[in-house]
Amino acid sequence: MKKVIVIGGGAAGMLAAQAAAEAGARVTLLEKNEKLGKKLFITGKGRCNLTNAADMQTVMANVMSNPRFLYSAFSELTNRDIMKRVEDNGCPLKTERGSRVFPVSDHSSDVIAALERGLRKAGVRWELGADAAEILTEELSVPADDAGASGMNSAPLRKVTGVKTADGKKYAADAVILATGGLSYATTGSDGKGHKIAASLGHRVTDMYPSLVPLVVKEQGAAEMQGLSLKNIEIAVYDGKKEKYREFGEMLFTHFGVSGPVILSASAVIGPLLRKKELKLCIDLKPALTEEQLDQRILRDFSENLNRELRNSLSALLPAKMIPEVIAQSGIAPERRVHDITREERAALVRALKKLTFTLIGLRGYNEAVITKGGVSVKEVNPSTMESKKVQGLYFAGELLDLDAMTGGFNLQIAWSTGYLAGKSAAAEE
Ligand code: FAD
Repeated sequence: MKKVIVIGGGAAGMLAAQAAAEAGARVTLLEKNEKLGKKLFITGKGRCNLTNAADMQTVMANVMSNPRFLYSAFSELTNRDIMKRVEDNGCPLKTERGSRVFPVSDHSSDVIAALERGLRKAGVRWELGADAAEILTEELSVPADDAGASGMNSAPLRKVTGVKTADGKKYAADAVILATGGLSYATTGSDGKGHKIAASLGHRVTDMYPSLVPLVVKEQGAAEMQGLSLKNIEIAVYDGKKEKYREFGEMLFTHFGVSGPVILSASAVIGPLLRKKELKLCIDLKPALTEEQLDQRILRDFSENLNRELRNSLSALLPAKMIPEVIAQSGIAPERRVHDITREERAALVRALKKLTFTLIGLRGYNEAVITKGGVSVKEVNPSTMESKKVQGLYFAGELLDLDAMTGGFNLQIAWSTGYLAGKSAAAEE
């Protein structure tokens, strides 16, 4: 019977441990926190959007980095498979707008309880407070020959023998699955130690940065609207004249800039560029209206406010907090009387409403990011097994890898699928 150690009791590690035990291995799961699934607990605002019920092609289309690496993992464990596992372990699920899947109870803790039940049924032993510090290896007497097929020109020279924790305890293992997560929300346990362990074993870790993250705006005008949330708007992000992103939905202003669903999604697409240069964010506050329709609407509002100052005449059109910024961007003096406003000035007002513009200057940090972009390079991992091409018996799963997706349950699906495949492969006898 193979001995498998899984490092990290998050989504990927729990599925990996369960799959390895189901495939006949003796499995120990090491988690440094005082409980399993600490990050899972906060997912989906505490409701856990555990997957997306769209067809797997759509799931694949929502993966941002290295989608092709996931073909085998996604076919080994689909969204339906994880849903069945969670439901069979006592957590009924429901599907909401955008095919997002949640527990019927709206409590992420019920998903974690179902996973723990699955671990228990499969016979997984888990240790809490077990902080893995090192993966132990030894030289292979005969180098493995499968690396040629993987496109690497050198075969693994070492194989795993076990794991050592920070308190010096050693665990013998035939296979080790590293599933320590990314860098976001480090207080949940994913603090980057796994990346260091992977690097110490010769694995390349690609450039990492926060993604699905709020964005920093240069102008003070955004901060002055902090707390204001906008529904049914359309954003577009430009690099000079080139449009880089466009989406309809919800956003909000904060003390540093902008956040909310469309902004987080935008960050996953424009993040790499924004790290190098400033970009323009344009917000269409009235996407359902053409410029002409909006002009007519303004004329109607103006006709009821002819003797008022402009700043006191837009409350039917805009939330109070937005009025100063929209007027400032239109270039019209706020105290100008409505009956004095010219056709050209009205056109400028329409432009400000259809294209309220800010300068994006950066990404917020890991403690506000849903996900980490970058990680252990997938080029050195076999996509059919999740095994390292550098160290025999070493497997990877989850966000630790250079994989990330849009919001909607796709990131957890990556964790479940890669975890499952790593567990099943690690348990397989050669
Ligand atoms: P983690 O879940 O981070 O698990 C890694 C585990 O490894 C941790 O428990 C950690 O303590 C442990 N560990 C780390 N180092 C060691 C060590 N040296 N020894 C022992 N243990 C160690 N995705 C979705 O699909 N849907 C959502 O609704 C969603 N909401 C999110 C909300 C927030 C606020 C955040 C931050 C993320 C959200 N995500 C969501 C993303 C999702 O949570 C992650 O993609 C997923 O948890 C990654 O799983 P993982 O197992 O790879 O890593």
